Amino acid sequence: MAVPISQMWTVATYVLRQKIKGRKQYPLVLMLEPLFRCNLACAGCGKIQYPSHVLKMQLTPEDCFQAVDECGAPTVAIPGGEPLLHPQIGEIVEGLVARKKYIYLCTNALLLKQKIHLFKPSKYLTFSVHMDGQREHHDFSVCLEGGYEKAAEGIKEALRRGFRVTTNTTLFDGADPKSVRAFFDEMMELGVEGMMLSPGYSYEKAPDQTHFLGRARTRRLFRAILSNRRSDWRFNMSPLFLEFLMGKRDYACTPWGMPTYNVFGWQKPCYLLQDGYADTFAELLATTEWEHYGTESGNPKCANCMVHSGYEASAVNDTFGSLRGLWHTARATLWNSYNDPSALKLLDEPVRPVHAVNPLVQIEAPAAEETRV
Ligand code: SF4
Repeated sequence: MAVPISQMWTVATYVLRQKIKGRKQYPLVLMLEPLFRCNLACAGCGKIQYPSHVLKMQLTPEDCFQAVDECGAPTVAIPGGEPLLHPQIGEIVEGLVARKKYIYLCTNALLLKQKIHLFKPSKYLTFSVHMDGQREHHDFSVCLEGGYEKAAEGIKEALRRGFRVTTNTTLFDGADPKSVRAFFDEMMELGVEGMMLSPGYSYEKAPDQTHFLGRARTRRLFRAILSNRRSDWRFNMSPLFLEFLMGKRDYACTPWGMPTYNVFGWQKPCYLLQDGYADTFAELLATTEWEHYGTESGNPKCANCMVHSGYEASAVNDTFGSLRGLWHTARATLWNSYNDPSALKLLDEPVRPVHAVNPLVQIEAPAAEETRV
């Protein structure tokens, strides 16, 4: 089982408390971005293309604690940018552990060996290492030769020191399902606790706009990858969300389930879009026109989206929404091989070629008076 029982219990009791209170919109995971700076320039990333004055900005530990307290979500993901570049990242993590939040520190692991002394192993802290596939694919994806090797070294060191480690993988069009399955084997051999997956989302800011998946291609790719599953693969995510990616169930987007706080404030409506900012979490909930978002809204920006930040909270809500949801989750956890002979044929289909891209594209940032730090 990828997620420890104590963490599952914390999340389950939190969700049930929200249900008892009758809250329709509640946060499950806070996406806390303390900075946008990074030591990589990945082609599919929409975060690091900001102008240099924005890349110099960062949240203070106090900003982070206030956002976490205000939001109340039991889990905090710390993406970026590269959070290990934040000079006070050790202090931020220590403060969140003291608050008993389950933290996923998302890192490309290039600096993990160098900075690991800043952290203490804890059931509350997991390093979620960005790994986009096998060696060649990962190096291409992060535009760095040797990136895979460095990340694998960081993973081994963190595991050796007793830290929890997972991987997070974004899959774009052109991903080879056979290679992705071989990559899962490699990660299990490395000894990671579990793997997280998401289809890439076409950020307007991402330099490579040609390799984002439409919904039909996403379902086809994930059906190829996740059917006929090996029993030793562990995934650190909702099993119903994985079924959603495979096209076995449908959900409406619940972007309030994974709200984003960064140097501009609370981002509307989600981690991926920037339709303005709110000063407080309460203001985010009250002033965002939620009905204008999600695939079902007809908003073209949401048309092809199936990412975890919009739909995994929907899957978790489904789990705890009824006895049927609980039963479906138990079934997807216990009987997860998804034997499907027709999906085996998809593994032999030719893969669309991936072309080189130029990752260095400048984009507009919010006007200076809109920035907070
Ligand atoms: S579908 Fe949801 S998560 Fe995806 S871009 Fe739209 S609001 Fe954001």
